[in-house]
Amino acid sequence: MSTLRIVLGDQLTRGLSSLRDYVPGDTVLMMEVAEETTYVKHHRQKLVLILSAMRHFADELRHHGFTVDYVKLDDPANTGSFTAEVQRAIARYTPSRVVATEPGEWRVREMMKGWGAEILPDDRFFATPASFAAWARDRRQLRMEFFYRDMRRLSGLLMDGDAPVGGQWNFDHDNRKSLPKDANPPRRQRFEPEAITREVMELVAMRFPDHFGALEPFGWAVTRAGALEALDHFISACLPNFGDYQDAMKQGNAFLYHSVISPYLNIGLLTPREICDRAQEAWSRGDAPLNAVEGFIRQILGWREYIRGLYWLKMPDYAETNFLEARRPLPDFYWTGRTEMNCLAQAIGDTQRHAYAHHIQRLMVTGNFALLAGLDPKEVEQWYLLVYADAFEWVELPNTHGMALFADGGVMASKPYAASGAYIDRMSDYCAGCRFKPGVKLGPKACPFNYLLWMPPRLQGKNELLDM
Ligand SMILES: Cc1cc2nc3c(=O)[nH]c(=O)nc-3n(C[C@H](O)[C@H](O)[C@H](O)COP(=O)(O)OP(=O)(O)OC[C@H]3O[C@@H](n4cnc5c(N)ncnc54)[C@H](O)[C@@H]3O)c2cc1C
Ligand code: SF4
Repeated sequence: MSTLRIVLGDQLTRGLSSLRDYVPGDTVLMMEVAEETTYVKHHRQKLVLILSAMRHFADELRHHGFTVDYVKLDDPANTGSFTAEVQRAIARYTPSRVVATEPGEWRVREMMKGWGAEILPDDRFFATPASFAAWARDRRQLRMEFFYRDMRRLSGLLMDGDAPVGGQWNFDHDNRKSLPKDANPPRRQRFEPEAITREVMELVAMRFPDHFGALEPFGWAVTRAGALEALDHFISACLPNFGDYQDAMKQGNAFLYHSVISPYLNIGLLTPREICDRAQEAWSRGDAPLNAVEGFIRQILGWREYIRGLYWLKMPDYAETNFLEARRPLPDFYWTGRTEMNCLAQAIGDTQRHAYAHHIQRLMVTGNFALLAGLDPKEVEQWYLLVYADAFEWVELPNTHGMALFADGGVMASKPYAASGAYIDRMSDYCAGCRFKPGVKLGPKACPFNYLLWMPPRLQGKNELLDM
């Protein structure tokens, strides 16, 4: 009687449901497969992060006495697909039981149906797809703010009995400041690639030369210990200013006071509960103000959980809507970063260099432009899915389709997040270095965001910036 226990690349958590009742004689199966590395041309740092973190996680499990069968990407017997690898492993071990934790993505759940596995819930989240569906039932509008309040009550985070601490649920009105000229955000911690990461970097350089993004310098943590270090650094050095400057953008600094932990969270090196607890503790100690801590916890307890709930509630039809009938192809500069619009050049440049851009760059620069220019949702979504180290469909799709592009017709957002150059000018220093002027609406110096905002795509005609 032995069990084959499957662990996927975004399930690198010791407490994972499929690992929980492991007994000697069981085997943990981990697989690097070509179909997962190539279903989109993932940023090369994203591939290195996930593959290196998987290899480290396998070593950690072995160190703790687990038997791990790890199929490497360049193993000559590797068939390149999850389903065929599971079948090969079943033939090797003839297990009496196969268990897996439910996957993050619809695509993989469809595959998993063919594995003959018992599928256990992924309980690393605060809410379950079923509890979200129960919350959504009979509601006309699915607004995050109301879901978030329920999650605060349920989790007990930042609560004083039945009331929110500080007397308010949300401190966002304190949180939209632009960055003062003399602000000096701390340097972010980088993690030098060690032997396993270097080996994976060579593999990725060789196998994926045409994928998006710079491979080096690679500075992501690839272990839980490293991810915890990055979290500690954020809590002590950045969290106190997180709220105030959450929406600010600065040329040459992609990270500002953001946590830069989403890739660790999404692959399981950190859990949402421990992150929120640490932020709450910083507030209790008096090390970070409430507007910052509430704002940060809301991103994880509110937005992240809400996004996941919505994904599972609405898939697969959700991905197919195109409410604004946007049809324009993605301009080439999304791949190269070569455009005279400095805000886009900076946001795309940060993305190429770091496999990262913060929320406002994604929403109000690349997303805002895609919305205003009427870019095809499928093409834009594929771009977001491959360029960021934290991108998995369950979190990328609702953010792009619903929040940035309004392609769901308002399931998520009450109105499109469309803004002119004035917003970008207020929240960044990008416009000073741009050939366009954010206050100008007409003529050769007019900021394209202004032009596009006042002229809906169907009336725009041919545009030299877009239709190349
Ligand atoms: C068009 C678009 C696409 C996006 N695609 C992704 C994606 O593929 N993967 C992803 O993790 N996030 C995505 N986001 C959400 C958000 O931009 C990133 O989570 C955030 O920028 C990650 O950086 P950080 O860790 O420094 O976050 P911080 O600003 O420090 O926030 C803390 C944490 O809150 C969570 N969070 C914040 N906002 C959101 C949100 N809207 N949805 C879900 N979680 C959130 C993240 O886990 C993040 O690590 C997207 C947003 C937009 C507008
Ligand atoms: S002027 Fe317009 S295009 Fe140029 S950086 Fe500002 S917002 Fe972007």
